Amino acid sequence: MPTIGVLALQGDFAKHLAMLKKLHVPTVEVRDRTALERVDGLIIPGGESTTMGKLLNRYEMMEPLRMFAETGKPIFGTCAGVILLAKQIEGSDQLRIGVLDVEVKRNAYGRQIESFEADVLVPQIGELPVRGVFIRAPVIKQVQNGVEILARYGDDPVLVQEGTILAATFHPELTDDTRIHAYFLNFFH
Ligand code: GLN
Repeated sequence: MPTIGVLALQGDFAKHLAMLKKLHVPTVEVRDRTALERVDGLIIPGGESTTMGKLLNRYEMMEPLRMFAETGKPIFGTCAGVILLAKQIEGSDQLRIGVLDVEVKRNAYGRQIESFEADVLVPQIGELPVRGVFIRAPVIKQVQNGVEILARYGDDPVLVQEGTILAATFHPELTDDTRIHAYFLNFFH
């Protein structure tokens, strides 16, 4: 059984930890490089990507995180986590890990519907849709070769995978549905 770290510098990491506990997975709250060395995979939660980027930089975790991804250790980012993983962020030079070959636009759903819920079909995990909770979510504007689109909302990719990196612009940890986390745990088999 792999040990999964949840980046716990800022944001809704507690919900991811609760989800992993429900799946009986050993977890570690990751706040520094030492903790990162102890885990087999990592979840980067939603929150504020600029704040998390600054903290990662201050704690000298950017380079270790890039190595973590490069060596094929699985990473799952949700919402702000996707922004931190993205190589391109439209109109922003904010600090990022930059290992997922997509372009995102932050807060791109506009004011009225900047937070909303919608059913999202993810064929890989079954016929029943997941309830997508979108909170000031980014839009994935472009994906490069090698990035697989697992689900869309309208035309926009909302769940993508590149190798052992999984990225959801919505928040599966805020529902009772464990299937997306379980899908991520399959990366370890
Ligand atoms: N809007 C946030 C950002 O740009 C992301 C929101 C979230 O993670 N729920 O970082």
